[in-house]
Amino acid sequence: MPHQIIYNSPSPPVEIKSSSIFTYLFSDKASLDDSSAYIDAASGTRMSRFETYDLSLRVAYAVKQRGGVQSSRPTFLFSSLHRFRFSPNSLAWPPTLFGLIAAGLRPTLANISYTPRELTHQIKDSGARMIFVHPTLFSLVIKTLSLLGVTDDEARRRVVVMSYVDQDRADEKAAEIGSEWTRLSELLGQERLPSEELFVGDQVHETALLCYSSGTTGLSKGVEATHNNVVSFITAFLTYFDKADPKTDVIAGVLPFYHIALIAIIMADFVANVPEIVVPRFEPNFFAQTIEKYRISRMHLVPPILVTMSFHPAFDKYNMTSLRLLSSGAAPLGDGLVKKVLAKFAERGNTRLKLTQSYGLTETTSGTHWLRVEDSMRKPGSVGWLIPNIQARLVDEDEEDIQPGQEKRGELWVRGPNIMKGYLNNPTATKNAITPDGWFKTGDIATLDDEGYFRIVDRKKELIKYKGFQVPPAELEAMLLSRPDILDAAVIGLESMEEATELPCAYVVAERNAELLKDPKAAAAFGKEIEEWIKTKVAHHKFLRGGVFIIDIIPKSGSGKILRRKLRELAKEDTLRR
Ligand code: AMP
Repeated sequence: MPHQIIYNSPSPPVEIKSSSIFTYLFSDKASLDDSSAYIDAASGTRMSRFETYDLSLRVAYAVKQRGGVQSSRPTFLFSSLHRFRFSPNSLAWPPTLFGLIAAGLRPTLANISYTPRELTHQIKDSGARMIFVHPTLFSLVIKTLSLLGVTDDEARRRVVVMSYVDQDRADEKAAEIGSEWTRLSELLGQERLPSEELFVGDQVHETALLCYSSGTTGLSKGVEATHNNVVSFITAFLTYFDKADPKTDVIAGVLPFYHIALIAIIMADFVANVPEIVVPRFEPNFFAQTIEKYRISRMHLVPPILVTMSFHPAFDKYNMTSLRLLSSGAAPLGDGLVKKVLAKFAERGNTRLKLTQSYGLTETTSGTHWLRVEDSMRKPGSVGWLIPNIQARLVDEDEEDIQPGQEKRGELWVRGPNIMKGYLNNPTATKNAITPDGWFKTGDIATLDDEGYFRIVDRKKELIKYKGFQVPPAELEAMLLSRPDILDAAVIGLESMEEATELPCAYVVAERNAELLKDPKAAAAFGKEIEEWIKTKVAHHKFLRGGVFIIDIIPKSGSGKILRRKLRELAKEDTLRR
């Protein structure tokens, strides 16, 4: 058998503190002063570093009181009390998240565009008891709890409305919610938890956060990120990557905070002592105005946002010269888009802007690769080096390492301290994802050059990503198959260069196939009907924007697996023909 070929990070290893996330975040007590930690983009309301700390420990105290939990044993808290976070980006986010962690609980975070059906899956799967919800999403949560058969009385005990928000729409919504529902502001007293749960020794390997990901196959699963996973990523990131300067840098947080990449980043920014402007969602005019108003210098973005920034007039109207560094992740950033964005900003009078890229997964607690700023012009389109402490292998279809002399292209496997503990209550999926010697199979195809720079060139796994959001094909296929007029179905991603994203598209075998295959008009009408129907069932990012096509038979392997690559080729031809 060919032996393992292991690539190490070119950067020196970094020592990781054995610490809980909370202790790590707030270890520099002298920095917990009146300077800004988080600022609400719309209202300008700011939360100081001290307030963030104080509020977090007050949340921790209140939650423990409410849950009637007296024990300080974190294991007990972990197994019995999950907390569920559900909210768009808001000022209330960081202290609620940090507070739940301080209390030794493990928050699980959800995509804000989920439908009640999608939410029920995560609430049931995670076993979440309490739900912290932003006022704008309150009615959705109530609908979800009623679907789950939760009585009104119980719902009132379980739901907390996150009222510390200061955004017009949120305040309006909060006012509509009856006084019988608990607000975060009411829950909080002046009392703080005297000390966070510590997680000493091996306890740092206990689960701290549960984000959801479908992984390489199937439905979405709870990804168990430990305290050590998070602390490892942040430490490596802050050592390796261009340091933000607390005196001059201002960061905007516009990507959704429920994603592990943003959780890690908002924590890293706090450790780096740089203020973060909290932007509830991406809307070009508001966003461009925010950049000008707060003199934003850095941001983490995704390719589709960069596309919009490259052409939208809002970014010509406002002053963009404060921007110094943009970092893209979650989906491929081609060198064409890099050049386009930089050229556009140069036209807008900003020639010092740099655009770089990272790569990682929910399962790797954010990034495993990051293109250093100094390399960004020399290696556009690359995801850079392995970050410190991470190792990689490239394997072929038979899971054997690419040997010297062969082209360095294969499925990327990674190992290191930020690889998740496993999928919650799913030993089979965990075993399929992580080898006994700790290699995590990313399902992505990468190349490696002689200087240690990786590129992500393809995806072996089922997963589709629309604008950085996960679309698990298995979920849409199951939904399509629930219709009596669909006999078989396969969902794949269709590349859209214009939007710098993939568009989910379906191939179906319909009951009326014989007729539809002969009549393109009827087939198109049926496809449209399915597209519209899906919109009533799933979150916005899962809509079948790439279309629905009729096919005589779904191509499958001998073992019955859908041959997705074949369908992707077919889809390219079909869209050309349309
Ligand atoms: P998620 O768990 O939602 O972060 O999705 C992880 C997946 O996003 C990876 O397995 C990749 O398929 C994709 N991805 C993340 N970053 C990049 C990148 N820089 N280039 C290409 N694909 C990426």
